[in-house]
Amino acid sequence: MSMTTLLVMASIGSVGAMAGALGIAAAPVRWRERLLPLLLAYSAGTMLAAALLGMLPRATRSLPGMQGGLVVLGGLLFFFVLERLLLWHHCHDSGCQVRRASGRLLLVGDAFHNFVDGVVIAAAFLTSPELGWAATLAVVAHEVPQEMGDYAVLIDSGMGRWQALGWNLLSALATLPGAVLGYLLLSQAQSFTPYLLALSGASFLYIALGDLLPRLHQQQGRSWLALLMLVLGMATIVVVRLDAH
Ligand SMILES: [Zn+2]
Repeated sequence: MSMTTLLVMASIGSVGAMAGALGIAAAPVRWRERLLPLLLAYSAGTMLAAALLGMLPRATRSLPGMQGGLVVLGGLLFFFVLERLLLWHHCHDSGCQVRRASGRLLLVGDAFHNFVDGVVIAAAFLTSPELGWAATLAVVAHEVPQEMGDYAVLIDSGMGRWQALGWNLLSALATLPGAVLGYLLLSQAQSFTPYLLALSGASFLYIALGDLLPRLHQQQGRSWLALLMLVLGMATIVVVRLDAH
């Protein structure tokens, strides 16, 4: 796997997701309201399957006994603390004065999240191309609704349309340095790969179970359709990884 191929993949993961978000944002409201919950369910399915069928089995092959589980637990704790720190000043009161600040905070948190997505894509690709594709697909699928939500929050915090779009794009591009760093780190020290894969799996599990599924429960709509999309997301990863060993 060359650096160029990896950068193309990471670009698909970040800029591709933005293009998807713009496309859906341009659709009529009625369509958008129907599409979003389906996309949330689909992306949760891809992330859960990529973590549980791809990254974690691969990681635990090299991390026997409780080692793999401990790295995943450590990862979950790390993401929990990170989320607390970044959302510390978030305000949910109606008369709140710090909404502008929360817009900037969202950008920092999001840029870091996208950076981690880049590392995840690199770790997956350096393990096997199939796992790399599975990870990229899972990143694109969950970033589309993510970018749309971020855009709405930025507009709400007082930014103009183009300003919000530009900042969102800049934050999305953080995936590229993440991928480069992951690539350089893992090509220098391949023994880190299983650890980084386990952390990647933890990141996907945390996002799917802690963010996407709860958001899905808040949405109105047909539950059976959401369940179907969840299964479809999982099935896509199984098919993508079909010929991986
Ligand atoms: Zn992401």
